[in-house]
Amino acid sequence: MDNQEHRRGNGLRDLPSVGELLADPDIQHAADGMAREYVVQIARAVMQERRAQFREMQSPIDRDGMIAAMCARLMQQQRPKLRRVINGTGVILHTNLGRAPMSESAVAAMQEAAAAYVPLEMDLASGNRGGRMAEIERLFNLLTGCEAALVVNNNAAATMLVLAAVVSPARNAVVLSRAEAVEIGGSFRIPDILRQSGATLVDVGTTNRTYLGDYADAMTAETAAFLKVHSSNFRVTGFVHETSVGELVPLAAASGIAVIDDLGSGALVDTTAYGLAREPTLQGSVAAGAHLTCASGDKLLGGPQAGIILGQRVWVAKCAAHPFARAVRADKTTLAGLAATLRHYLRQDYSEHIPIWRMIATPSEVLRGRVEDWVRQLRGDGVPVTVTASVATIGGGSLPGETLPSFALTIHEQDARADGHSIDALATALRMGTPPLVARIDQGRLWIDARTVFPADDADVVRAVGAAWRAM
Ligand SMILES: *Cc1c(COP(=O)(O)O)cnc(C)c1O
Repeated sequence: MDNQEHRRGNGLRDLPSVGELLADPDIQHAADGMAREYVVQIARAVMQERRAQFREMQSPIDRDGMIAAMCARLMQQQRPKLRRVINGTGVILHTNLGRAPMSESAVAAMQEAAAAYVPLEMDLASGNRGGRMAEIERLFNLLTGCEAALVVNNNAAATMLVLAAVVSPARNAVVLSRAEAVEIGGSFRIPDILRQSGATLVDVGTTNRTYLGDYADAMTAETAAFLKVHSSNFRVTGFVHETSVGELVPLAAASGIAVIDDLGSGALVDTTAYGLAREPTLQGSVAAGAHLTCASGDKLLGGPQAGIILGQRVWVAKCAAHPFARAVRADKTTLAGLAATLRHYLRQDYSEHIPIWRMIATPSEVLRGRVEDWVRQLRGDGVPVTVTASVATIGGGSLPGETLPSFALTIHEQDARADGHSIDALATALRMGTPPLVARIDQGRLWIDARTVFPADDADVVRAVGAAWRAM
């Protein structure tokens, strides 16, 4: 303590020492086996903050407050951030909640691969080195008809890699429709990705209409690729025309130009069977003759985060041989989880086992029944809840504007106010609960949409809402 602090008054003398803090039973309990050196670091940080606060505002040292702050800090260090959260938002591929939850068999496969040695790059029959992608390639070949496959960290990396692999200093022009120079999400913009991968962007057509002739006119000896990008997160309707992969392939054929199709969501199933718009599929892209097709693993495929590159053998081999491929390659757990996910499509049991497809496939009447149960139990406890028709969305930059009829538990702001509550405070209390529950606030109501809540979590929803209501 310096002289100036001494002169400022007695307050700082109330500051407990590190030793005193460490001896406190509440702090010892919260530290729960954490090594002493890290507990000391946290104690010093809390003391420093309190000292600074005292200097700035002369606020008296509150010993209990300090202990509580330190316990909170210790618990925050110990408790995993990525713990189970109940998604009551009705957004199925919720990017902020980690996109697609995975099937039990995919989780089991990832766990086994994580905990053990696995023949990642070994052929067990010969004992020789074997291809890292052999299993994934066999599965994708059967499901989509592609010749070869490569899996990387995510679709952003896949797009970056395929572009880097197809361009060369002498031949680096990539032709892209103006309608497809899109931004996918924070800081992922196709024109930027093009530049970063060493390509020169040649934009053709207009915002709403691009014809085959526009691509033909743009072709030069420097043209390396035609890039198609699926407008994953918005829709252009009205006076529009798009040139398909199928039309571009014959145009590219004679000149050795690559046709690249960035699909984004990577559906393997016909989405119209679930009352949704038609989302382009991986097998559709392969059948149309795309040389390289890119997609995400954790969007409509319902698997782990991954970037999937499918295509013709020579083009995929070019990608695999690029130095960037090693920098973004997928690990053993991702490959195991992705393979297990793909087997659901082989068995055609995805709508029972892959959570996002189970959510999409659940009839809304089933959801109504579950919400009625929640509401009956909570009304008994005096919580002013109502069963309300809702609309769930796919989210995650897939099927923009497409909705699924659903049912939700709702609480009106007026009803909450009548009891001295507010729906914003209730939403915060639900997020801070155990397990956390993320609700939606919309139209003056709090919504918990059943379509994105696992049926196994129904009892937790009732408990969470009851507890949050009572605690306010
Ligand atoms: C989502 C998306 C990406 C990015 O994929 P990530 O797996 O999130 O990296 C790229 N392109 C399109 C068309 C997408 O929809």
